[in-house]
Amino acid sequence: MKIGSGLPVYRGVAIGPAVVYRKATGELPEKWDAPEQEQEKFDKACVEAREQLSRLYEQAKQTLGEEQAAIIEVQMLMLDDLDYLEAVQEEISTGSSAAAAARQCGESLAMMFASLDDEYMKARAADIRDVSQRVSGILCGGGEFRLPQGNFILVAEDLAPSETIQLPRERILAIVTQKGSSSSHTAILARTLNIPSIVQADIELDDAENCLVLAVDGFLGQWYADPDVDTLAALQVKQSEAAAKRAALEAYRGKKSITKSGKQVLLCANIGCPADAEAAIAADAEGVGLMRSEFLYLGRSDLPTEEELFAAYRQVAETMQGRPVVIRTLDIGADKQVDYMNLPREENPALGLRGLRICLEREDIFRPQLRAIYRASAYGCLSVMFPMVASVWELRRAKAICGEIRRELIAQGYQLGEVPIGIMIETPAAAVIADSLALEADFFSVGTNDLTQYTLAVDRQNAGLGEFYDPYHPAVMALLAQIAKSAKAAGIWAGICGELGADPKLTETFIQMGYAELSMAPGRILELRKLVCESEV
Ligand code: PEP
Ligand code: MG
Repeated sequence: MKIGSGLPVYRGVAIGPAVVYRKATGELPEKWDAPEQEQEKFDKACVEAREQLSRLYEQAKQTLGEEQAAIIEVQMLMLDDLDYLEAVQEEISTGSSAAAAARQCGESLAMMFASLDDEYMKARAADIRDVSQRVSGILCGGGEFRLPQGNFILVAEDLAPSETIQLPRERILAIVTQKGSSSSHTAILARTLNIPSIVQADIELDDAENCLVLAVDGFLGQWYADPDVDTLAALQVKQSEAAAKRAALEAYRGKKSITKSGKQVLLCANIGCPADAEAAIAADAEGVGLMRSEFLYLGRSDLPTEEELFAAYRQVAETMQGRPVVIRTLDIGADKQVDYMNLPREENPALGLRGLRICLEREDIFRPQLRAIYRASAYGCLSVMFPMVASVWELRRAKAICGEIRRELIAQGYQLGEVPIGIMIETPAAAVIADSLALEADFFSVGTNDLTQYTLAVDRQNAGLGEFYDPYHPAVMALLAQIAKSAKAAGIWAGICGELGADPKLTETFIQMGYAELSMAPGRILELRKLVCESEV
């Protein structure tokens, strides 16, 4: 048995086989074999790539729907493209390694497609690049999930949202990463999936790979590789106690979240994709307080179309059966990179072109998303929300675009719902000028993850900063109080959708400050409802 620890980010106990994810190094091999052997390696890598893609296709069909999964089918066809295969063969025969040939020929073919006039063909350049990178990645090693048949515990150095999007979520029992922080997206994913998770774990990937059973205690932040009989028994007891506790919370299902003195708060779910809306309903969420819609843009090789986005938003609206749903517009940038958007590399991405800034710069991306949200508003109770606002003019400009979209759609004969327009408060600037913003917005939702990062100048992704990332800091608390006060004065509602919204130590404080909504991982809702219902405030 090997034991270690890390930072617990979601409670629970899991026991199962480990799957280790190693990032692709992308480094070409320094030595290689004769052309015949290299050709053989290339052929094998193509078979492996096809298998990976067909697994991905099945997963994408379940989580994202058939239309989006079709993109993966197109990529599979690329693996049979004779132009590509012959070019690689030629390159290998002149003495290149299989990995270098796969990469170089993919790049040349992609550039050729990108220069064509036909828009459809142009868009295929990204698919070709994606497929050839997959093949050369296999040849360089890493960058893939080798999944067993059943459930598993995922172990990795770190996980980017674009990597986790490929996973069969329902089969992940726990997540353990060597890096990451409590507000990183790995932690957010674990909370959404309602599974135990440890970040900053001192686990060696080789140890995880070589053990038969891995056990994760998300209460204490401990992991055990091949636990001995006594440890295993103790963990199983802990697991059943946690299950019993969860069962007791069922008494709060279907109840309103009202304190003993009559103060009501809406307890909503944070979701990433349409499938999460079902988890929100199953968890008895009173609505969706944050749909992180950038997840619809990740893990693919080109922009989703208006129709694809519309289908996803409509599915969420319908699944939520009339309960309010807040859709945040694309929040790409910083830790959420999308290669096919070809955004410039930045020295300091957290302070760069991200969130609403990208949407205002790239209306070609923003408008189809807004059209999709407005069209889906006919099927439920949707609101739109802009991330990373710092100035009033940004909100005014985004609202003007929304007005144009609304008029355009009505002229085209679409039925639309009301669609209130709100903003996330996650920059100190927005918090300080909340009174001015409140005159222009229909609601506020505080993103405490970023608000903490920007207020304290502490990178939320940097595990090494540990206790410096302090969401309880008096400066963050003062801003939270001020935001609620400004919202109240202007007669709009304010909520909290950052991780702090689920912090039981602060629930009463937030209700007293005047917050009307707390949005969190679906699995936390009943626990918080119990707390609210038992509270005297
Ligand atoms: C936040 O910043 O608190 C938030 C909810 O947004 P995200 O975590 O997606 O940046
Ligand atoms: Mg944020």
